[in-house]
Amino acid sequence: MSICILSDFDGTITTRDGLYSFIEQYAKGDWERIEQDWVDGKISSKECLTEEFKLVPNLSEELIENFIQTISIDETFINFYQKLVERQIDFYIVSDGIDYFINRILEKYGLYGIKTITNHGEFKGEYFEITFPNDNPVCSNNAGTCKCKVLKDLKKNYDEIIYIGDGASDFCVADKADILYAKKRLLKYCQDKGIKCISYNNFEDINIIV
Ligand SMILES: [Mg+2]
Ligand SMILES: [Zn+2]
Repeated sequence: MSICILSDFDGTITTRDGLYSFIEQYAKGDWERIEQDWVDGKISSKECLTEEFKLVPNLSEELIENFIQTISIDETFINFYQKLVERQIDFYIVSDGIDYFINRILEKYGLYGIKTITNHGEFKGEYFEITFPNDNPVCSNNAGTCKCKVLKDLKKNYDEIIYIGDGASDFCVADKADILYAKKRLLKYCQDKGIKCISYNNFEDINIIV
């Protein structure tokens, strides 16, 4: 049987939500109103990200680099990922964050070549442009990277998809994974909606039997 493992990034692999912390630390002006509009479902995460980044003055590679140094990952992920590589199990990070941040955080821990499906950020001169190659206008989650669409596409190639997540960006995929590992806000969501899931604390709790 072929299996594929998908994992969220912020709050699942990292110990705290990186993008939220970035905006909290560097944005000037009323970014909290934008964040609240997103929590209330008034704006999409695409609008939220784009608008919040506009509130960061003097955004530069150096600023992001300094910030990256303050972000930690759950170190049980390193061993987990190594085992997947040894056992040749396909793995993707699926995130509504930004590749520019994710890749640098992983590199800090010597993790190279992990496949990611996420939003794209790139400096165009002074301007940091964010684009959304994996969005899906028909999904109710209205995320920059629609995880239910990613899962649906991958499901064509695998018998079983295992999903690991922690929060709101994982809601649309929760009832579609064959096996779901959930913690924090995602766990509460699944309990409220009666979605079957396995509760976990870190990657040591995730048993992959093939
Ligand atoms: Mg998350
Ligand atoms: Zn979706």
